[in-house]
Amino acid sequence: MHNKHIHRVIVLAMILNVIATGVSSQENANFVQRALADSSFAWRSIASNKIRIYYEEDSFAERHRMMMLRSMITAVDEVLKILEASECDSVLNVFYVESREKMKRIVGRSYSGFSDWAANAIFMVLNPNWRSFEKHEFAHVVTMGVWGPPDITSRWMIEGIAIHCDGWCREYTVDEVAFHLLSNGQLPPLREFLDDFNSLGEIRAGFYAASLIGFIQRTHGAQALRDIWLNGVESFKDLLGADVNQIENSWKNYLKSNVRQDTKVDIDIINKLGCG
Ligand SMILES: [Zn+2]
Repeated sequence: MHNKHIHRVIVLAMILNVIATGVSSQENANFVQRALADSSFAWRSIASNKIRIYYEEDSFAERHRMMMLRSMITAVDEVLKILEASECDSVLNVFYVESREKMKRIVGRSYSGFSDWAANAIFMVLNPNWRSFEKHEFAHVVTMGVWGPPDITSRWMIEGIAIHCDGWCREYTVDEVAFHLLSNGQLPPLREFLDDFNSLGEIRAGFYAASLIGFIQRTHGAQALRDIWLNGVESFKDLLGADVNQIENSWKNYLKSNVRQDTKVDIDIINKLGCG
């Protein structure tokens, strides 16, 4: 927890409100054990081959447990496909809690989602007013857990990849949100963004990164993403055959020709309530 990098990840996640990312359990008690040992939770569970989901008795998640299990199976398949990663050998433990207060009891902060990649586990808030972010949290497990920590210049990708894998926010796609921000002069040039993504605020930084990452993934494949993640943004040119300015222009052209120009994105409600 005191590791500087981990701390920055947490700060970003706090701001992001929507979502969270996780910490390694190596420096903490295993969050799975902590959750299961807490007698204030009446856990029930069901499992498929490689996924076990936990939910509380009489909870919204319990009433929809089959749907949640199927949704998690689909989320894992889709994220593995997007990131061209292979299935993990160990069981993925998925916890649904009804509130941020309950999340805080387990992981220490009132995140709406959290991943403990070292324990192959994710924790999510789910209730009638808030959807869970299965693909987002599982993407953190794959990138941080399988790829390893990103290069210092590629930290903007941590939330970006997770948001890209989730794919949407309220009723909008990631690209629609990014195009709206771009069209309204809300996104700085890419070079500036890469140098200081934190100053942009979580929504703008998250969707800028996610849309760009989606573009790179579609045009160059997940292997290119993984290489940039591990080797840093200075490897753009070697990996993609284009420098930062060229990538920025190609991405903008892609957005212009692929996003419906008449889509009206209510950015205020996203800033206020997040993507749930
Ligand atoms: Zn996240």
